Amino acid sequence: MKLELSKVVRGCRLGLLTSIGQTEQHSLEVPGCFLYTRCATVPHLTQDTLHTLSNLPAVTQVTLESLAEHQDVLEEFKHGVRKFAGLQDTLLFCSLHDPATTHPAGHVTNKTVSVWGSGGRIELSVAKFMAMQAAIRPDCYESMADGETWQANTSRKRVRKAVERTLSHLDECLELHHKTQELKGCEIFGVVEGGDILEERLRSARETAKRPVAGFVLDGFQSTSMEQELREQLITAVTAELPQEKPRLLRGVGRPDEVIACVEAGVDLFEGFFPFQVTERGCALCFNYTITPDPETAGTSPPTVLESNGEEPAVEKLKENGDGSPENMTRFEMNLKDTRYRDDFRPLVDRCSCYCCKNHKRAYIHHLLVTNELLAGVLLMLHNTAHYLGFFHALREAVANNRLRDLKNKVLQ
Ligand SMILES: [Zn+2]
Repeated sequence: MKLELSKVVRGCRLGLLTSIGQTEQHSLEVPGCFLYTRCATVPHLTQDTLHTLSNLPAVTQVTLESLAEHQDVLEEFKHGVRKFAGLQDTLLFCSLHDPATTHPAGHVTNKTVSVWGSGGRIELSVAKFMAMQAAIRPDCYESMADGETWQANTSRKRVRKAVERTLSHLDECLELHHKTQELKGCEIFGVVEGGDILEERLRSARETAKRPVAGFVLDGFQSTSMEQELREQLITAVTAELPQEKPRLLRGVGRPDEVIACVEAGVDLFEGFFPFQVTERGCALCFNYTITPDPETAGTSPPTVLESNGEEPAVEKLKENGDGSPENMTRFEMNLKDTRYRDDFRPLVDRCSCYCCKNHKRAYIHHLLVTNELLAGVLLMLHNTAHYLGFFHALREAVANNRLRDLKNKVLQ
């Protein structure tokens, strides 16, 4: 895996990740995001409907959590999750936990971590974790980590222990990785822990960077866990310790304003779970990310794709922690269940080129939602994914053209 940076401006890194995975044929632009899946499928969408979207990310995220119960089946199948789930033309990144769900704390030991499947808790040793990776056969995966220090007020002793355990798990994963034939050509990302304690964050970053990892996962910065300002300070300090030529993936952060702030702090990659959470609460992304052309560069850069409808979205409550429940709606979306959309015959977003916006009106989506039709989730997921990927495209354009401040103003409008 190679990260070629074409521009670094005030902490933001613009570049291309190449030579990923066994075939080395795919590339991923940064700043960028992965394609979110659950049980290795994009929720609500078949591969055919998914591929009506253009410019899908080259990397799909699968989670060990959603696959752990199927280890024996995958081992018997022998060809990995990509073939098992019929995924077309994509690379796989395997994470431990599903970023769109929360799980109970208090289930890690010196030697094990736990994940939750539909049948309950599954305890993983490094040996079992690596056996799972061999069965899944991703192109890259994050090493096993003790990530239970994201809550505020976690003690210094507990944070230090998490850093030590995570480094020890990484060393064991690396050792087994090199002995595992099924993981030939696959690469490991090291996980940086350290809670909200600067010196532990730096120690974790420096020690992880000494190991032969392909990239880094910055863990424990989930939206609800700490103040935005502290998070940005810690991420800036951590990324300064990491080698420039390796990618940094931030776990658990997906809201557009937070994505921009974290890109400014030196993050390259995000998990793409936010459109799914928005879909689950019956909402559509509608924030504006189109910045007016700079007269000096007008005509030289490709236009960004969307304009909002110039109206306030129906936000019932503004809570800022964005999981999939209705009370966590953010300012970036409209609630299609609201009766104001009952006779609104406009597309979700004007000039959006997704299948939903080209073929359906807000009133129809409202009708599907209030009658609990499954098609509502399909259409919303298509639009929300298209809108979110369009935002990342606009973000890269803004960094390339020194217009990040303009984009930020537009998104926060
Ligand atoms: Zn659309």
